[in-house]
Amino acid sequence: MAFQYIERFRSKTPKSLLIYVLGGYIILQFVWWAYMLVDLNAEIYHLKLAMLLSSETPSVESQLLKLELDEKLSIKIWMVLGEGSVFLVLLALGFRAVRRSITKELNLAEQQNNFLLSITHELKSPLAAIKLQLQTLAIRKLKDEQRNQLYSRALKDTDRLEKLVENLLMVNKAESGKMPIVKQKVDVSKLVYDLAEHAYKEQLDSKLLELSIVEGVCVNGDVMALQSIVSNLLDNAFKYASNSKVQLSVVQKTNVEITVSDGGPGISNSDKQRIFERFYRLGSENTRTTKGTGIGLYLVKILVRMHEGQISVSDVLPNGTCFTVTLPQVGN
Ligand code: ADP
Repeated sequence: MAFQYIERFRSKTPKSLLIYVLGGYIILQFVWWAYMLVDLNAEIYHLKLAMLLSSETPSVESQLLKLELDEKLSIKIWMVLGEGSVFLVLLALGFRAVRRSITKELNLAEQQNNFLLSITHELKSPLAAIKLQLQTLAIRKLKDEQRNQLYSRALKDTDRLEKLVENLLMVNKAESGKMPIVKQKVDVSKLVYDLAEHAYKEQLDSKLLELSIVEGVCVNGDVMALQSIVSNLLDNAFKYASNSKVQLSVVQKTNVEITVSDGGPGISNSDKQRIFERFYRLGSENTRTTKGTGIGLYLVKILVRMHEGQISVSDVLPNGTCFTVTLPQVGN
């Protein structure tokens, strides 16, 4: 693992170092040329002064010419320094912009690399598990209970695969503007309740999921998209805050608010600003223990926006995370 860290560090460092070396070289070159220009002007000034002093012009006139020369020299020096400073400021700004865009590219490349690693794993492991479960079912004579257990595990793994593929397809369609959103008046209280009853029955029965749903709250939305928003938030809560209680609520204030809160590890303020980015996951692919691809919250953000809504994340005290989706309400 330590080796992989070093590899990552190495692959980033030469490029950033190259920018600094290049920047330093340009500044040194510039200072050198500025010095040469000032020096050249001084040399010309001394030559002209020597010529002036050796000529036989009357002394008052030569004094005036000397003053003129002094003034010209000082103007030229200030010109070099003034234009040089402007150039340096512009150079620094350009340098900062280049550095930013390179850092952004490097981060994106790393996130894409992480995404490829995680998606391969996310596709491979449930497939391998399903294969093993089916092989066991086919080869061995099992008791009914064991057989049912294997069936239900295989179904869970299939669900996991299905959700992943659905998320990927949705992101793809949303990004290419081909997402078929069919908005209609939806009783979001019923939708959330039914979803919890069907897809999260186990967690409801074991009291890991608590519902607080005000009846009859309606929004103008797409059923599939709304289900995807809620299930992505719930899946994350169960994944990252394992064994802590998860609260799902639907209330109607000025707008409709759907909140999912957990008692997990929470998210730092700096990460809160980035978790809705595509492929963004906390930590590095080498140190993470939880599975995922970093597209869930990105998709949620897109879907919420398609409903003219907003999503926010806040802390739960003493520990935990609360996601709040705010959607415009429609009358009953
Ligand atoms: P994924 O879960 O596939 O990694 P997401 O886009 O759903 O991708 O989430 C992005 C990141 O936000 C996750 O990797 C995780 O670190 C963090 N995160 C999301 N939900 C929670 C939560 N309820 N508690 C703690 N961290 C979370």
